[in-house]
Amino acid sequence: MSDLPAVPFFDGHNDLLLRLFMGDHASAERRFLDGEAAGHIDLPRAVAGGMVGGLFAIWCPSPGVVISTTFSTLRDGPYDRELPPPLVFEEARSAVLTQAAMMLRIERASAGRVTMCRSAGAVRDAVGRGSFAVVLHLEGAEGIDLDLSMIHVLHAAGLRSLGPVWSRPNPFGHGVPMRFPSNPDTGPGLTEVGERLVRLCNELRIMVDLSHITEKGFWDVARISTAPLVATHSNVHSLCPHPRNLLPSQLDAVKASDGIVGLNLATSFLRPDGAMRADTELDVVIRHMDGLIEALGETRVALGSDFDGCIIPHEIASVAQSQLLFDALRLHGYNNALLEKLAFSNWMRVLERTIG
Ligand code: ZN
Repeated sequence: MSDLPAVPFFDGHNDLLLRLFMGDHASAERRFLDGEAAGHIDLPRAVAGGMVGGLFAIWCPSPGVVISTTFSTLRDGPYDRELPPPLVFEEARSAVLTQAAMMLRIERASAGRVTMCRSAGAVRDAVGRGSFAVVLHLEGAEGIDLDLSMIHVLHAAGLRSLGPVWSRPNPFGHGVPMRFPSNPDTGPGLTEVGERLVRLCNELRIMVDLSHITEKGFWDVARISTAPLVATHSNVHSLCPHPRNLLPSQLDAVKASDGIVGLNLATSFLRPDGAMRADTELDVVIRHMDGLIEALGETRVALGSDFDGCIIPHEIASVAQSQLLFDALRLHGYNNALLEKLAFSNWMRVLERTIG
């Protein structure tokens, strides 16, 4: 690690809960709090890497789909993977409740080291006292019933951020496929119940996440939502023409709403060839950061690592090496004030305006 001062950062997206869910449930608290030599995130490595908190996603795997096998089919572009089939509601609901409970159990077992935060102020307070700040996110609303009762229960359990879809159709809308190259106009947008879901999120002050949604869905949310537009983990389409990345018109809409985009470290959304492979250098990350700042301004760009959900550049082997990215950005000419905004205060501004 370098001698430069660490930049404390809040991260817009990770899939820790999925990783814990795929392993031994009974030891989830210990695996996170004590750390383990697996995946990208646990508390000791987060602390070592300067991560002070983030949005933690609940995500339901598709039955029979092995994620690491899927990654290996994305090693070289072009590719066009079939969308996984829709999930069965009861199975998705069960996975959502198990993962939400895991985070509640982690908080309880942490003895103050981890705090589930329900507002931007709560994040600031937690960070101020050295407690790791968790904001609970739902990536894909498959576990929500059509009369939206589950949203109220999950809100009470701490949920403050939700993406209506992952890359899989559900009753609320349509997501983009793992296809490269492609624009994000790959299918329909929100359904009628999807529109009701977005309105309820606005009412309950649950942040709506646009990463994964089709271009039509993006514009549906832009039309309906009263909150700033947020893509927690997406990059620049003109630098990597993957449908998960944002077109100039979408970036303009995020800027006009005073929203935010979290830069994603998934190599298939960074590299010009769309390949999901670790032999990817940090200069490609810097190009997307420059591109996002050019499109959105310095106050509307942040991080959304996708740790534990993808293959990331080899230099950043886990969250523990995150400061290498800030070192590289500093060398590239970013000053400390800009790094602080990208790492922390930009997310706080948008959380204040979305979740309160
Ligand atoms: Zn995602």
